[in-house]
Amino acid sequence: MGFDTSGLLPLNDALQGMLEQLACCCDSEQLPLPEALGRVLASDIASPLAVPPFDNSAMDGYAVRLADLAAGIPLIMAGKAFAGQPYQGEWPAGHCVRIMTGAPVPEGTDAVVMQEETQADGDRITFLAQPEPGQNIRRAGSDIGKGACVLQAGTRLTPREMPLLASLGIATVPVRRPLKVAIFSTGDELKPVGTPLAHGDIYDSNRYGVRAMLTRLGCDCLDLGIIPDDPAQLRAAFIRADEEADVLITTGGVSVGEADFTKQLLDELGEIGFWKLAIKPGKPFAFGRLPRTWFFGLPGNPVSAMVTFDQLVQPALAKLAGQRFERPLQLQAVTTEPLKKSPGRLDFQRGILSQGPNGLEVRSTGSQDSAVFSSLSRANCYIILERERGRVAAGETVTVEPFGGLLL
Ligand code: AMP
Ligand code: MG
Repeated sequence: MGFDTSGLLPLNDALQGMLEQLACCCDSEQLPLPEALGRVLASDIASPLAVPPFDNSAMDGYAVRLADLAAGIPLIMAGKAFAGQPYQGEWPAGHCVRIMTGAPVPEGTDAVVMQEETQADGDRITFLAQPEPGQNIRRAGSDIGKGACVLQAGTRLTPREMPLLASLGIATVPVRRPLKVAIFSTGDELKPVGTPLAHGDIYDSNRYGVRAMLTRLGCDCLDLGIIPDDPAQLRAAFIRADEEADVLITTGGVSVGEADFTKQLLDELGEIGFWKLAIKPGKPFAFGRLPRTWFFGLPGNPVSAMVTFDQLVQPALAKLAGQRFERPLQLQAVTTEPLKKSPGRLDFQRGILSQGPNGLEVRSTGSQDSAVFSSLSRANCYIILERERGRVAAGETVTVEPFGGLLL
């Protein structure tokens, strides 16, 4: 695939190399608003309305004309305006209109004076403060102009977008169909949960992690289970995934020893590169394509599988799904303890970030072995240590990336 596989490939080169080849592969459809939660917008949404649609009051108070106030004498209340019940009567000189929040301001209103700045004596209203022109009036179109782009194509709809779209009267939205992702785990030693273990067996944990992350990303998952290290069965699984899914994600079988075998099969079926990434955890990684389906081969070690999915596969899936992708914020924090590190790879250590007396502090979750799960479940962030950095002393500043939506 045109990459140097002799040395270790930097993460950003791998990411860029993948993203360059990928394009959105999901058609669009029109869905009723409530069903569109979690989907990706297929086109920009332009506002069919001005928001607010009419000039209205931001306060409970009185609509006034500044000329009437100039005399400095009380005004007579001509009537009342409520939200949904505009004032429609006459408005003679020397009068004001009682108005509630959200009510349309009567024609000719210069300002709304809040109730707290007035004194009422029956219908005679005394104004204690001189309002500025336009005070407490929300102008038509001040939030959103008619025709303005309110949401861009590629936005994934969250609960934050739902009320916005509803406020514009939008009943259906153009969204992409979900990306269909086939997954399987490879390894003779793997057993599904709910079955007993023989000596030498372990439970297949990766599939549950990968599935959970796919669910968070809004993908449709085709779970092909556990495939033993057997050429015929692997071949059949690859062919099924190629026929039924947009993407295939496997775990295991891409490290030295097994890779040659998987490699042979994948070379025959498609075009796959086996990479050694300059990251820790997560060195072995495969990427390429079967005739109809993109392929991501994650390392078997559980923590490596989760980290490579998060850092590499997630942006790739977003691109295939038509979603704009932004990496989570990276922050600076002071480590409260020394961190083991040898130069050569970019480390994604698992850490616990907290607010200390002098700012953000981070500590390690303990063993950073890529087979130790507790390092992930107790963590709330990555501690990202630069490739050439060595051992880190307590008190040094490090880059942290709080876990975002995928790992929380
Ligand atoms: P592999 O990449 O297949 O050589 O696997 C590396 C390590 O990860 C081995 O210790 C495997 O037993 C372990 N492993 C592979 N796949 C899984 C899985 N699905 N769940 C848990 N551990 C796994
Ligand atoms: Mg294996």
